[in-house]
Amino acid sequence: MEVCYQLPVLPLDRPVPKHVLSRRGAISFSSSSSLFGAPDPRQLSQRRGAISYDSSDQTALYIRMLGDVRVRSRVGFETERRGSHPYLSIDFRILHSQPESAGPVSARKIRRLLSFQRYLHSSRVCRGVTPQNPLHFLDHDYTGQAKCMLEKVGSWNFDIFIFDRLTNGNSLINLTFHLFNHYGLIELFQLDMVKLRRFLVMVQEDYHRQNPYHNAVHAADVTQAMYCYLQEPKLSKSLTSCDILLGLLAAATHDLDHPGVNQPFLIKTNHYLAALYQNTSVLENHHWRSAVGLLRESRLFSHLPAEDGLNMERQLGSLILATDISRQNEYLSKFREHLDKEDLLLGNAGHRHFILQMALKCADICNPCRPWELSKQWSEKVTEEFFHQGDIEKKHKLEVSPLCDSQTNSVGKIQIDFMTYVVEPLFAEWARFSDTRLSQTMLGYLGLNKAGWSGMLQEQAGAAEETDLGAPSPTPSSAEETDSKVLPQGSKES
Ligand SMILES: [Zn+2]
Repeated sequence: MEVCYQLPVLPLDRPVPKHVLSRRGAISFSSSSSLFGAPDPRQLSQRRGAISYDSSDQTALYIRMLGDVRVRSRVGFETERRGSHPYLSIDFRILHSQPESAGPVSARKIRRLLSFQRYLHSSRVCRGVTPQNPLHFLDHDYTGQAKCMLEKVGSWNFDIFIFDRLTNGNSLINLTFHLFNHYGLIELFQLDMVKLRRFLVMVQEDYHRQNPYHNAVHAADVTQAMYCYLQEPKLSKSLTSCDILLGLLAAATHDLDHPGVNQPFLIKTNHYLAALYQNTSVLENHHWRSAVGLLRESRLFSHLPAEDGLNMERQLGSLILATDISRQNEYLSKFREHLDKEDLLLGNAGHRHFILQMALKCADICNPCRPWELSKQWSEKVTEEFFHQGDIEKKHKLEVSPLCDSQTNSVGKIQIDFMTYVVEPLFAEWARFSDTRLSQTMLGYLGLNKAGWSGMLQEQAGAAEETDLGAPSPTPSSAEETDSKVLPQGSKES
């Protein structure tokens, strides 16, 4: 086991400021809360993209982060209204009216309260309610087909949506476990299979099923893309097992407990986490801390020397923080500079770590580089999530965030800009670094998909013009036909 860390120390264990602990508000997001005005607590579990303010949850997370047993015995679960945005207070109050969050909680129970989603899950189990979507138990036919798919897990055409259905919604667990096995990481790092399985179940459960885009399927998709990049000759020749372990872990956890809204939304609603992370990489910091919490709770690395475990957590943070899209230019300029100077030495642990950061960034935004059938689904999902945020902002008379207004944006418009200004520049540099068939394939799909969306927009504009001139307006079915006609060609090729 090579120790491969030469990185700046990140402030993982910085003390939580006093004012933060004393204000005891929220820490974790929840898809099941009622931030956006559910009048009936029974509807909570159906709400999408909301943020929870459960003080017990917050306490659990802090305990998890601090690793301080003394704190655990002192903290209570009294409700405390925070002086932030009015909706947040409403949400907080409703959450505390739930019987599960009332009364004293044992230390054992606290350990289970890692996220509000799992809290609900475990309380259902305690009450004898059978989970609707049992993990692990699959129809044999589906298991067989899922296994079959895993034989081609390195294919760029891998259809994660089908794989998710075949695994009964457990794509992230199954895919990540398979890849750990494939690389022999379980033996190499002497991982306990039960702990690993438990860790992966917790990771998957902490993603919000209700988010149209930022859910466990996206995490599984990013993990699959990451695997494709790890297999690229330059990386596979130089990466250590430790790099591979971290790369896969970071991909699987990089959006953990994502609330389905973006950072500006959290800032303008005075979200507690925005204050905690000083409005900087708020979500990414939260994903990282959540991942660390699950690692510690599952004790997956508890057999490793403490220093190695801490180093793993720091590196995981450095990888996850690199996915902050607002820091794209910073990473891209550094990448470009290295490529211009041709000074990347993959024998150097710091350089390998940088390449892992770039690979994870690519994996995170590779949707437009996938075949059209897959790419289009992702585009629609992400737009649905944006527009949902915009609807909430309108409903509560907040300024509508860019890209979130369904009146002034469309899937195609958003995609074309995203491809032009974010995806193309990144993948062009990646192709310079790793000039392979995969890189060319990705750039090829990117061009085709962009042309596909442009074609659709032009047709829509043409149709609108005709309507203005008095021609009959297209029926919904003819508009759909238009959609399928402008599919990029050659999108079957791998
Ligand atoms: Zn992501």
